[in-house]
Amino acid sequence: MKCTKCSQTAVFSRPDYCERHFTEYVEKKVLETVRKHGLVSGKDNVVVAASGGKDSVSCLYILSKHLKNVRALAIDEGIIGYRQHTLAYLKRFCKAHNIPLKIYSAKKELGVSLDNLVKQGQHGCTACGALRRHIMNMKAKELKATKLATGHNLDDEAQAVMMNLLRNNMAVSARLGPITGVKRLQGFVPRIKPLYFCTEKEIAAYAFLKGFEVPFAECPYASSSYRWSVLYGLNELEGKRPGTKKKIIESHLKMQPKLKEGNPGGPNTCKMCGEPCAGKMCKVCSIITSTKKIKLA
Ligand SMILES: [Zn+2]
Ligand SMILES: [Zn+2]
Repeated sequence: MKCTKCSQTAVFSRPDYCERHFTEYVEKKVLETVRKHGLVSGKDNVVVAASGGKDSVSCLYILSKHLKNVRALAIDEGIIGYRQHTLAYLKRFCKAHNIPLKIYSAKKELGVSLDNLVKQGQHGCTACGALRRHIMNMKAKELKATKLATGHNLDDEAQAVMMNLLRNNMAVSARLGPITGVKRLQGFVPRIKPLYFCTEKEIAAYAFLKGFEVPFAECPYASSSYRWSVLYGLNELEGKRPGTKKKIIESHLKMQPKLKEGNPGGPNTCKMCGEPCAGKMCKVCSIITSTKKIKLA
């Protein structure tokens, strides 16, 4: 197969592009998302939430190549045998590309590790997401970031839309999108998803072609998640009808203005830690309080 832009051999199909045209295509798509959806303005101070996986590393690379003063932050949730490998790679990557990186550990910041929370009966993915978002927001504020970029791709977002639909979580769905949140909330650094319109396959190919040797490490808690079943189902549908995931995203973006109207979101602050949250207490504080109770019992 030949590249549709030049006569070189294609390295990717749909779109059929050679290495150079494919990597250009991915970067262009990311920068167009940033521009069209107003993800970053001239005054913004962008910090990328990186894990050391292919998505966040690609996001970090493309943003730092095209924007000024991009920094990275990473969270060590405390998953023995997993996180240290991706963080070691991230450190090497940032050093090689001159990107300032800060790593924060959940143990040090909140006094808990994910392994411990799971041992005490917490659901791995739920607790992990809550810890990560919490520390990310706290630290992004300390770093004076005005935007926090994540490596979520089109596949991740399609899964999230489907999961919220299946769980009747419309208030959560209202906050999805290339820029998260229904409105600006005090104390909350807006999160942006520059890879929003790139498929998982495109990012995997991009990272490979760019020579990013991201470690292949699977989170030990991943298989227990509901997300995994939704992913499996979506992949099957995508295989039968390519473009299904993109259609899910497009439908979601069409519905989103209505979802936002119906779910304005709570501008509350957590009574324990002061971080913004929907109810009276944030998720992390309620997880920590409930595990303390278990310990005492
Ligand atoms: Zn070409
Ligand atoms: Zn709290």
